[in-house]
Amino acid sequence: MVTCIDVAVAGGGPAGAFTARELARAGLSVLLIDLATCRPRLEGLGERVAQLLVAKGLDEALAAASQPLPRHVTWAGLAGTANGERLVRRHIFDDALRRAAFEAGAQTRQARLGRILKTDAQQGVLLKLSTGEEVSARLLIDARGRQATSAQRLKGPQTLAIAGLTQGTAGVAGTHVEATPQGWLWVAEDPDFGRWLQISIGADDLVGSGQAALQDRMGRFLAQEQLAGRFSDQTFQEPLIARAAGLVLSAPQLQLPVIPVGDAAVAIDPLSGHGLFWALSSALSAVPSVLTILETPEEGQRLAARFYRDRVVETFWRQARTGRDFYRLETGLSSNPFWAERVCWPDDAPSHPSVSETFLQQRVVVDNNRLVEREVLLTPQDPSGVAYIAGIPVGDLKPFFPSSAMAQPPPCAPSPALKAAFGWLESRGLLHGSLSRTQKHQTKTRETA
Ligand SMILES: Cc1cc2nc3c(=O)[nH]c(=O)nc-3n(C[C@H](O)[C@H](O)[C@H](O)COP(=O)(O)OP(=O)(O)OC[C@H]3O[C@@H](n4cnc5c(N)ncnc54)[C@H](O)[C@@H]3O)c2cc1C
Repeated sequence: MVTCIDVAVAGGGPAGAFTARELARAGLSVLLIDLATCRPRLEGLGERVAQLLVAKGLDEALAAASQPLPRHVTWAGLAGTANGERLVRRHIFDDALRRAAFEAGAQTRQARLGRILKTDAQQGVLLKLSTGEEVSARLLIDARGRQATSAQRLKGPQTLAIAGLTQGTAGVAGTHVEATPQGWLWVAEDPDFGRWLQISIGADDLVGSGQAALQDRMGRFLAQEQLAGRFSDQTFQEPLIARAAGLVLSAPQLQLPVIPVGDAAVAIDPLSGHGLFWALSSALSAVPSVLTILETPEEGQRLAARFYRDRVVETFWRQARTGRDFYRLETGLSSNPFWAERVCWPDDAPSHPSVSETFLQQRVVVDNNRLVEREVLLTPQDPSGVAYIAGIPVGDLKPFFPSSAMAQPPPCAPSPALKAAFGWLESRGLLHGSLSRTQKHQTKTRETA
């Protein structure tokens, strides 16, 4: 018997579980497929993720994370403490998100996606699970993380992270990041979990394979002179975990009926601490794509392909250049192979785009949880583009631009939203005529993504 549903989600990490939950809440029939085999481990969770979880009513998932803890940084010759990250127990976090998907109405299967038996942009997919079950779905969300298959990967210098829980109890709660000649070190102390120690080295800097090779490599890293014996007596409670950790663009183009989310689209270098945010935000942006494709297949597929490509490709290059700049800060180590490779990839372009003039551009944006094509305004102050000003589509405000062929002054008694939009336009020198500046600071803009 074949199970028929609207959307199958392969992979129940944060990206897949959150996508499944949001699609089920939007009223679709959803099947979430995951083996639920995440090994206990700690990761850092930033405030933007915490805010998103609260806004989405995912307090149980947030409860898998600590309160914000201090982060000590030894990098570029500087030693400092900043208000830092929360520590999240990923196995508990992922479980909570999968439960939230189930509670929202998604079906779940503890299984592996074995094979994609059929795939057709119009008709959907036919899947074979490791349990033998066959599943037919109009769309497949690929959330298999770095294990997702891809025919066209783009990568920078690849990193291998080796990590484990050390023997003994944790010290003072918090995290510590340190640059060393061989790579960088992350230590997370969580009194209820223990001390998690993770090293990041070049992917080709491991001799041999298996536990003995990992233990040996960890030992050589921790014995570096710079660490002054601070970690030399570490022993680990369980076998070490090795994970690929470099930046990878796995799926630059949307190949419908498959929509990649999270690491399956772009896998992020853990140095950025951006991976979980990307997993959840890319899941959120998959929802309007799915709804638009299912409601208006031809138009939806065209819009979704553009929307996906813009977001994913931009995220990859921004992450590549932001990472490069962070590695470049560490000038004292730049002659070591790990650093030498990373300070010159991908290029010398700035990490964030700059715009020298003001112009309008046609883009795909989200409106009412659907994809639509809209004019977006780019200015030197808003290089990422603004699609709505005080909730009003930018295109509707064009008659008030001084450059408009039929420019007109603002009406005498504008609605509160228009008044706020005019204040914003005036602040950018984009209003024909003038208006009181009092509304300017109350203006709300929505960016395109
Ligand atoms: C060493 C390391 C440290 C990191 N530290 C941080 C950090 O501190 N902060 C941060 O924000 N990010 C961090 N990241 C990044 C973060 O872990 C990822 O960005 C995030 O897990 C991506 O979520 P995801 O759901 O896309 O993929 P994953 O979390 O990888 O989930 C993929 C899921 O798919 C399942 N799966 C795989 N194949 C199949 C299949 N065939 N069938 C069914 N299910 C399948 C897996 O079992 C898994 O549950 C780190 C990454 C690494 C490698």
